[in-house]
Amino acid sequence: MELLIYNEYEMERLGEKLAQVLEDNDLVYLRGELGAGKTTLVRGIAQGKGYRGRVTSPTFTLMNVYLLEQMQINHFDFYRLDPHDIYDLGLEDYLERKGLSLIEWPQAGAGILPAEALVIDISLVEDDYERERKVKIKAQGSQYQEKIKELQSLC
Ligand code: ADP
Ligand code: MG
Repeated sequence: MELLIYNEYEMERLGEKLAQVLEDNDLVYLRGELGAGKTTLVRGIAQGKGYRGRVTSPTFTLMNVYLLEQMQINHFDFYRLDPHDIYDLGLEDYLERKGLSLIEWPQAGAGILPAEALVIDISLVEDDYERERKVKIKAQGSQYQEKIKELQSLC
């Protein structure tokens, strides 16, 4: 599915809708250039799950964990990360453990990360209102196709 999002507020609202369809153990890949709005969307997802703390970019820490009563959210950012670092990070342990994992810049983990995921591409719409973004959401794997259908009914 494809959406146009006009400002950061709307991006967070989209995240809250995503939060309604995402569950423990799900995997989401967020692609898009720096400043596209990946972290903003993660913030909306975390808020939608009831998280009231700060959600900031894990570019330097590589990963943030947001603890909730019902689950934990693992927020990764693999920007400029070497694939070897991903092993060092113990990513597989995190993915095996419970948690909703949201991964910015998954391209850095190509070949290591699972193929099945909800994949979100955010791009800037040039020559137009500077805050406009195009958001494409696609399913890799049948479990995520169901989630896209649910999301469509919310949007
Ligand atoms: P990324 O994680 O992709 O690098 P961030 O979410 O950290 O991006 O930053 C996006 C920046 O762009 C923020 O400063 C935000 O306020 C701004 N912005 C402007 N328009 C939008 C929009 N439509 N959606 C999300 N962020 C937007
Ligand atoms: Mg980010």
